Amino acid sequence: MKKIVLHIPAKMNRALKTAGKEAIEEFVSMFPEYKDSFRIEIRDDANIRGKEISQAEYDAMPDNETKRHCLTSPRGTWLLPHKSMEWYILSSQVSGSDKIDVKKMTTQQSAYVVNDENIEIPICLVNNNLSPSCYGYTGGVIKTKNGVGTEAVSVVVSAKACQNNNELIKTIIIHELGHVFNATHTGRANVVESNGPHCKNHLCIMGASGYPELNRERLRRKQNGNPPFCDECIASMRECMSRMPELTRRVQAQQMPQQPIQTPQPQQTPSVVSKPYSMPVAQQKNPSAMPPLEQWHECLKPEPHNNREWKKDIREFYQNVAARDGDTYKENITSQNYVARIKKTDGSTLEIEANNEYNIALGRTKTPDGDNTPTIQDMRDLVKLAQQKHSGMNFSPDNTPEFNARLLIACLEAHPKIAMKNQPHITPEFLTKLKPETKHHLQTIVNNTQAQLMRQGGRS
Ligand SMILES: [Zn+2]
Ligand SMILES: [Zn+2]
Repeated sequence: MKKIVLHIPAKMNRALKTAGKEAIEEFVSMFPEYKDSFRIEIRDDANIRGKEISQAEYDAMPDNETKRHCLTSPRGTWLLPHKSMEWYILSSQVSGSDKIDVKKMTTQQSAYVVNDENIEIPICLVNNNLSPSCYGYTGGVIKTKNGVGTEAVSVVVSAKACQNNNELIKTIIIHELGHVFNATHTGRANVVESNGPHCKNHLCIMGASGYPELNRERLRRKQNGNPPFCDECIASMRECMSRMPELTRRVQAQQMPQQPIQTPQPQQTPSVVSKPYSMPVAQQKNPSAMPPLEQWHECLKPEPHNNREWKKDIREFYQNVAARDGDTYKENITSQNYVARIKKTDGSTLEIEANNEYNIALGRTKTPDGDNTPTIQDMRDLVKLAQQKHSGMNFSPDNTPEFNARLLIACLEAHPKIAMKNQPHITPEFLTKLKPETKHHLQTIVNNTQAQLMRQGGRS
């Protein structure tokens, strides 16, 4: 679990608070595989109790480190160190101006986080001008203990420099979060050193300047369902997140809605699982909107620019699955999503669609017996894919009981064990919804697992 904490000064207007929160949500939504690992918190200084004390209380304090770092507020009270944004701002004020020394402020705050053994990222939205940077700044410290270095970072963003433009504020916050997760580290390709490493890819939000334009570009891309980061920045951040022990990756399996069988339901809303930055996953496929077969290629050419690196692993995996079973693999490379179809020897097809490497939908069509749920073998393959990615399995509650039961069977059979989330509870009611053979299979596994547990427990 990683906390991203938005700190707001007492007198900040509400709209800015909302903008700050939305920016963090927008950032986190680009990494759905870590959806469960991030927590967003807002701390405002409106409640100052415990953060400031009266003159009399101050006088009564023993002469220690804490007392020496107290600062007087404009109200004549004393601010306790590291307890409020007001203290951080006052202690980092560049003398003779209302500018904040952001290097000092982020160092102070990161040191406090790391000393407190907190795993959180403070983001301070302030109403002051900053120095030496203008819109925002990310700084940090590394604390070494027994030879192990722990890094803490902190972010300051100026609402004043953004002229209280909520969208621009969001752009700056997302840009700074890019720095937090190492989007542009030194040594990466297409990076320029300018007040820290920045991205040279065209209109990527990690650019070194021109933020109003990058803000317009972010909004344009958002409308088209694209992230404001370039592929290289996204890849760097994924790499960084994969090394953070407090984050847990999960593959989310979803069921594709079954193809309508000649009885089109009037005005049925397609079941869409959509995220701000991704194409809908489990969208009802309209057969007439399917690209003609000539556009499905067996021989893959790299797509220009849009060559999404993440597709590689899934592609290779399912190509191998098809080769193993002597089936035909085809992929629609014109789609932004990974869209593939495996035609099996019995004439049925397995349809695979993914909008990122951790969000995968499976469906079956043209089955001789009309069973459109992917087979247990399909599920075993999916589990294997998740294991290759050192990931767990997240069960979508929207799947049918039959789909989730087959997936559960594959997970329970897996060696080594796979972590599960939102898996169905095997209640009598759940079992009644399953096909007899699935029910039997599931019960056998559960009984075996229980027998094993009994033996391990040493009971006779
Ligand atoms: Zn930057
Ligand atoms: Zn970039």
